[in-house]
Amino acid sequence: MESQTELLLKRRHNTIGKYSPLFYEQPIHLARGEGVWLYDTDDNKFLDCYNNVPHVGHCHPKVVNAITQQVTKLNIHTRYLHENIVNYVERLTATFAEPLNAAMLTCTGSEANELALRMARFMSGSQGIIVTDAAYHGNTEAVGELGTGFMPEAQRTKRVRSFPIPDTYRGLPNVPVEELKDAYLKHIKAAINAFQEDGLGVAGMLVCPDFANEGLLNLPDGFLEEAAEMVRAAGGFVIFDEVQAGFGRTGKHMWAHQWYDVVPDIVTMGKPMGNGFPLAGIVSSLDNINAFTKHAMYFNTFGGTPVACAVGNAVLDALEEDNLLENAVTTGQYVTEGLLKLQEKFDLIGDVRSRGMFFGVELVLDKTLKTPAKVQAKQIVNFMRHHGVLISTIGPSDSVLKIRPPMPFKPEHADILLAALFKAFDAVSQEVGV
Ligand code: PMP
Repeated sequence: MESQTELLLKRRHNTIGKYSPLFYEQPIHLARGEGVWLYDTDDNKFLDCYNNVPHVGHCHPKVVNAITQQVTKLNIHTRYLHENIVNYVERLTATFAEPLNAAMLTCTGSEANELALRMARFMSGSQGIIVTDAAYHGNTEAVGELGTGFMPEAQRTKRVRSFPIPDTYRGLPNVPVEELKDAYLKHIKAAINAFQEDGLGVAGMLVCPDFANEGLLNLPDGFLEEAAEMVRAAGGFVIFDEVQAGFGRTGKHMWAHQWYDVVPDIVTMGKPMGNGFPLAGIVSSLDNINAFTKHAMYFNTFGGTPVACAVGNAVLDALEEDNLLENAVTTGQYVTEGLLKLQEKFDLIGDVRSRGMFFGVELVLDKTLKTPAKVQAKQIVNFMRHHGVLISTIGPSDSVLKIRPPMPFKPEHADILLAALFKAFDAVSQEVGV
């Protein structure tokens, strides 16, 4: 007899195919979520150490209340005067440095990046966009062109050029650490030159300031600032994709780019912005937004509705009232210390990287050659799932454990995560003899 879950898996397979592969060798059939916990249909409990969309916690009462209150009153597009969008954007833009003082709201991160590309190309009069060679920024056609991490070389278009991921752990072949910054900058310069030779010009550089999909990298000091300067000198826009990194994820600052000494021209955001409700957008200067919309029509039916903005406000309330940035700093530090202790014990762990409530644990088969331990990373993720803790992998070789829990994650949750990781590393290390 097939179980309910097996039957549902079959029906899913026959209706939506394989376009969104399920996590884990044994998929989880979820029923509900609360705070940092998820529950399956048999009421088994899983500690969520992966999902950043339920940023302030699964089903946060403030967010649930905001949706229900506003949806029973009014929900309509942005062509009528309503205070929610104004209140929200005033509050949102107050978290940025000048001149980032205005916003346009969308429903997804992909739409936000699509809009940022349109703005940069329209305003610069150029086409070329610089990204990393392991980038993912979304699913529309133009944004899909930037997805170098998922695209064979032959399918790339001439208007997108990539540079090697700026990674102080792996670096570049035969380049000493102290020369890494300049070596990576040479690749940016080469992309700029190539665009100019092709007659495309430079519209901008679009990167996640946390290099999250690339493996949560530590950059050579000064790299991002100098890369931004080079792009601007060539007439391009600096676009930071904060879809994963934003809203206090990195603890010390509301925005990951605020760790660096560079103010971008456009910031894109999404995922955690509505805690699961589709809310995303771009922040730029009012001058940029007015200059773009004077000639280019932009309307987004569901972007910035009164419900969306009520939700956005509730997320900001929860971040403030639950002291979640402060928690990301203190609990983040606690988790990092635990991960570093694991690194001392297990040779599989090549590098531990963290910023606030975002952790990357890079697995290698050999500490000198740094051979990516892709298979072992997958084994660890599946082992953890069977021990009730949900994590995933990132990076060009999928060999970096991605640990990115909802922001109300506390030291008592960290203890559960670290104990499960210990067991997982113990089991997997013994198996491969590392
Ligand atoms: N930018 C980054 C950095 C992302 O990780 C993603 C989604 N994984 C997106 C953009 C696209 O966001 P969405 O799925 O909301 O369109």
